Amino acid sequence: MGDGYWRKLLRIDLSTNLVKEESISEDLCKKLLGGVGFGAEILLKEVGPEVHPFDPENRLIFGLGPFQATQIPGSGKWIAVSKSPLTNILCFSVAGGRMGSMLKRAGYDGLIIQGRASKPVYIWIDNDRVEIKDASFLWGKDTVETVDIIRDKLNEPKAAIACIGQAGERLVGIACIVVDKSSFAGRGGLGAVMGSKNLKAVAVKGTKNVEVFDSGKVMSLTREINQKIRTTAPEEFLKGGTTCEVIPTEEFGDLPLRYWAGDTGGIWKEGAKKIGDPYYTQALKVDIKECAKWSCDNCPIRCHRFIHLEEPPEYAVTGIGPQYEALAMLGSCNLVDDLAAISRANDLCNRYGVDCISAGAFVGFATECYERGLLTKKETGGQELKWGDGELLINLVKQIGEREGLGKLFANGIVRAAEAIGGEAKEIAVHVKGMDFPAHDPRAFFSLAVSYATGARGACHTHGLCFKAAQGALLPEMGITEPPDRFEMERKEYIAAKFHDLSALHDSLTMCNFMLFGGMGITDMLNCVNAITGWDWKLEDFLTTAERITTLKRVVNVRYGISRKDDKLPKRVFQPAKEGSRAGKIPIPFEVALDGYYSLRGWDSDGKPTVETLVKYGLTEALKPIWK
Ligand code: SF4
Repeated sequence: MGDGYWRKLLRIDLSTNLVKEESISEDLCKKLLGGVGFGAEILLKEVGPEVHPFDPENRLIFGLGPFQATQIPGSGKWIAVSKSPLTNILCFSVAGGRMGSMLKRAGYDGLIIQGRASKPVYIWIDNDRVEIKDASFLWGKDTVETVDIIRDKLNEPKAAIACIGQAGERLVGIACIVVDKSSFAGRGGLGAVMGSKNLKAVAVKGTKNVEVFDSGKVMSLTREINQKIRTTAPEEFLKGGTTCEVIPTEEFGDLPLRYWAGDTGGIWKEGAKKIGDPYYTQALKVDIKECAKWSCDNCPIRCHRFIHLEEPPEYAVTGIGPQYEALAMLGSCNLVDDLAAISRANDLCNRYGVDCISAGAFVGFATECYERGLLTKKETGGQELKWGDGELLINLVKQIGEREGLGKLFANGIVRAAEAIGGEAKEIAVHVKGMDFPAHDPRAFFSLAVSYATGARGACHTHGLCFKAAQGALLPEMGITEPPDRFEMERKEYIAAKFHDLSALHDSLTMCNFMLFGGMGITDMLNCVNAITGWDWKLEDFLTTAERITTLKRVVNVRYGISRKDDKLPKRVFQPAKEGSRAGKIPIPFEVALDGYYSLRGWDSDGKPTVETLVKYGLTEALKPIWK
């Protein structure tokens, strides 16, 4: 009888070609579960504040949890963890494809990559056999070509492959890691960390089965939760994936418009109809059978969209189509309502390996800077930057991928670009800790203001699902039993904190947070943990673990220099709209809510976990490096 863990991490040093297995204790598994919990612990111990994200001493961790051994809904995930070149702090980014299950079935609970190869390489893990192979012939290839070539060369058509495109090779600060051509560890430039290590790809085949405590119970829970998700998830979500969110999001005033402009509000009804579902499904000829094929393992929702775009021929795409975040950040944020152009820009992001959220933000930021005269035709290479221009969107995405033209100016992220532009550019940039806002507006859901400001990787929607509470996604086990008023600041720090903790569980068990929308709540997750591990945990144990992981993430960031001064929001968030459903609304008093968040967490007024808090969560080893 097992507990869902191999108790084994694989470490590969690309500077020395060292490959070794390291054991992990049951105590660590109980303390941090896996995924981002393990990743944060490794960064705390091994990557100090002096290590630049592109230094060989930085670590890139592929994190897994106990769920990857099973068919539990949402378990087809893994998480990349590293020090981010975009923010210079902890970063974690969840992706799917087959990587999670393959790496687990190869016999590991995670992979640590360090060092820098002297020439381009890729890693091939075939169960116990690990090879570092030449990848010179792959350098310069896009992510789709890379996957096809490696599978062909290895003669392993089902191998899971996480790779970078040209953006990662060129150390573009918003480069992502692309998995199996269909899923993305998108945020924070972790593709550039791979590029800095001269690592083009990681290919994995695993065929082992890890033992669990009670396989019968795991199977019955799997069936039961699958059934619940299929009957509970909103019909439009099951039919259209996240593309169904565009129209309601516009109605909430939550959709980014004209780079989060302060004065126009949230009105873009006709545009939203032109880019969201149901028009999306029909116009892009979404192939539902292919969507299922290209979605993550063990998923009853299958949100990925497989599209066939034929017209105009120069925009043709057959493959993965834009999801909500891409539609909003490439589309509405730039007032582009041409779905074909957005799909083409999204496809370029996927192929170059670029985070579509930050890419869309960059286009909007550049356009506003141009509009205000901060950028001129001299810097844009003669291009006129204007809102709603699909061709411009495509051109600028190409420039990011190629690291040329304006793409060069933005290659190190929004903060450094704003500094280089000067003037009021810094005031215009919409980010937290260097991470561009994702496609939800804190003026439409006030809990997001606290969540974005205190988010461990900067402004983040995936661990800021708190805005969904106002739409009925509740956490009764954590005391959120009724939908809060979205404009009421009271208790917003509590909601933000609890959803941060939920995210700590999702990202450490390493599962998809969308399962929540199908009613897979904390009790379901806990039941699965107990059936897999046999730990017989009570709810309190589970919730304390979540709080511990959230605290650990903060500890890592405090070590990297983060404090209250960084938990702040851009000016724009405090500019009310003149029209639309959030007219006149801004999330104040923000500082009071921030104090409330710190106090709930056991952090001092500067945002630093107190010694008592560290002791409470058994994180006393953190006392050494930073709490002198
Ligand atoms: S809902 Fe989407 S992201 Fe989540 S596991 Fe399913 S396919 Fe993957």
